[in-house]
Amino acid sequence: VLSVRGLVKRYGVRTVLDGIDLDVREHEVVALIGSSGSGKSTLLRCVNLLEEVDDGQVLLDGVDVSDPRVDADVARRRMGVVFQAFNLFPHMTVLDNVTLASRVVHGVPRADAERSALELLARVGLADRARGYPEQLSGGQQQRVAIARALAHVPRLLLLDEITSALDPELVGEVLELVRELAGQGRTILMATHEMGFARQVADRVVFLDGGKLVESGPPAQVLGDPEHPRTRQFLKRII
Ligand code: ATP
Ligand code: MG
Repeated sequence: VLSVRGLVKRYGVRTVLDGIDLDVREHEVVALIGSSGSGKSTLLRCVNLLEEVDDGQVLLDGVDVSDPRVDADVARRRMGVVFQAFNLFPHMTVLDNVTLASRVVHGVPRADAERSALELLARVGLADRARGYPEQLSGGQQQRVAIARALAHVPRLLLLDEITSALDPELVGEVLELVRELAGQGRTILMATHEMGFARQVADRVVFLDGGKLVESGPPAQVLGDPEHPRTRQFLKRII
């Protein structure tokens, strides 16, 4: 589904991503780990074409979407993205938040958009909150709405950036449970996470970034349990 080739991203003189090669296959769940500042969010933002890349390519189903001649909006519509901070529109109902993109970007009639949005909200356990506003929801519930919204246009690829790190600990579980369900349904997911236990259980592959370089990649048991690279060992030792 996704193929990142030799991706380089600089901010000024700082090279934040230094030649990243990464593939995510259909139905695969890939967890990005690494210390703060290692480039996880930047990588997700480059894949989602929110950042211009300085070198390399982002291929989505074999099409180079980082090519400036490609319409970034069209490519972006094939991805669903959820960030750390809740990005719901506070002045819109939960239902309108979920249907907005379908209605405005994809031109789906309101009644159809609302029917599928209600199904999605039911799947994240929030159908009864559809007419409420984001501020009436807990952080975990808001994040579940953000996930429902990301699913509204049936993305090929779901990009999740530390979607539990702004949540109170007791709310983390419900959001992770939802991601686990999506993984079980065969969604293709690339997620940055600090939840090593979760990465171990749910990811098919764990990728360790350090200083903008992809240092190590492999099955969770190997990368988290028996890492090859000293940098990975150091990182894991520090966080547990
Ligand atoms: P965290 O775990 O804290 O979320 P991260 O791995 O997601 O970290 P990034 O947010 O990708 O890290 O940041 C990578 C590096 O790029 C950092 O050194 C950061 O300071 C720098 N950076 C990120 N965005 C910008 C920007 N807009 N302008 C300049 N530098 C930036
Ligand atoms: Mg980040």
